[in-house]
Amino acid sequence: MVICYLGIGSNLGNRRKNIKLAVKKIGALEDTRIIKESSFLDSLPVGGPSGQRNYLNAALKIQTKISPLNLLKELKKIENELGRVPAARFGPRIIDLDILLYGDRLIKSKKLTIPHPRMFNRDFVIKPLKEVL
Ligand code: ADP
Ligand code: MG
Repeated sequence: MVICYLGIGSNLGNRRKNIKLAVKKIGALEDTRIIKESSFLDSLPVGGPSGQRNYLNAALKIQTKISPLNLLKELKKIENELGRVPAARFGPRIIDLDILLYGDRLIKSKKLTIPHPRMFNRDFVIKPLKEVL
């Protein structure tokens, strides 16, 4: 089992409901349990097209046996199940699920970078993360 931290964001539809549903699905993944959930943080959009709604952000501490790449695959599956469609980079999305930290692993491949490269300078990631560390 590895301790892993996930970042969650939503700025389309019922943001709170989207995040709660994603958390439920993450908790239902095989060999995975949720250890701690952050509160929800309302935050201004960073980058992307102008006129986007605010985001709601959260972080999760989980314990899992799923490998990093398979976890990424499962998270993408959940994003799709919730109705996320491919759109502009940093554009509005129903749900965004990011792997922030995976144990003490450092990963840099085309598909996956851990720690998540854009987490350190983003308050909306770091604040919820601090709550569940
Ligand atoms: P972002 O989360 O950067 O706003 P996307 O959610 O559209 O953008 O993700 C784009 C790609 O980032 C994904 O297809 C995934 O392969 C890649 N990626 C790289 N590292 C990570 C990570 N740590 N967590 C989630 N996705 C990642
Ligand atoms: Mg993402």
